[in-house]
Amino acid sequence: MSEQNKDNTTHFGFKSVPLEEKTRHVADVFHSVAAKYDVMNDLMSGGIHRLWKRITIERSGARRGHKVLDIAGGTGDLTKKFSRIVGPEGKVILADINESMLNVGRDKLINSGVAGNVEYVQANAEALPFEDNSFDIITIAFGLRNVTDKDKAIRSMLRCLKPGGKLMILEFSKTENPALTKLYDFYSFNILPQMGQLIAKDSESYRYLAESIRMHPDQETLKEMMVDAGFVNCRYENMTGGIVALHTGIKP
Ligand code: SAM
Repeated sequence: MSEQNKDNTTHFGFKSVPLEEKTRHVADVFHSVAAKYDVMNDLMSGGIHRLWKRITIERSGARRGHKVLDIAGGTGDLTKKFSRIVGPEGKVILADINESMLNVGRDKLINSGVAGNVEYVQANAEALPFEDNSFDIITIAFGLRNVTDKDKAIRSMLRCLKPGGKLMILEFSKTENPALTKLYDFYSFNILPQMGQLIAKDSESYRYLAESIRMHPDQETLKEMMVDAGFVNCRYENMTGGIVALHTGIKP
């Protein structure tokens, strides 16, 4: 599924922007929210993002000695958990395109005493600067919807995984229950931007958050994109009524 329109534009939330401008708009959003990202995450989700991330770790099958890439890792919640599991024989790379998010993540992890098995790399998910067949697990949590060329990113992740390695995409998705959808829409488009304004002094970035979620491929479409890229055993698990879905696929 290409996100590119015939006139070389793509979506940035509900707006249509020239393809080459989306990355810059996304960068502006994350430079703006970086300092308040963690506190907003807890407030907006009522802390439930911690549960979604815990389930992701449980399903990862990560073990001591594993090499894990947490791309679009931002402030490093998953990296922190993986670092403890893989131990000194393993390695976790926290990678993100955005310097501000990566800096907040690095400071947070160092302050919380995360071991020396974490490396920090500024990288675009569409063109990962890592060797072929080098990771046991790659995670991208709440990151893929911000990527301009999602197919390219999924292929880049496939290239970097070892044969048998697992890709895990944790992302907002489509709710199944009409009553929940109505409530969720009201919350996203009315309350969320106001919370953004009040706490982070930035309603626009939080409006983008709500819009980008609505523009993201639904569960089945994303699964097909993984199959088309060459992943096998592709499946997904809905969480919180489909507000979030965890897609997994294996590199053959
Ligand atoms: N994974 C973290 C989490 O779950 O809390 C952070 C998620 S945050 C909503 C999205 C992150 O994706 C931001 O840090 C942003 O900079 C990053 N991002 C956006 N586009 C990217 C790209 N093309 N390549 C890598 N990271 C990207």
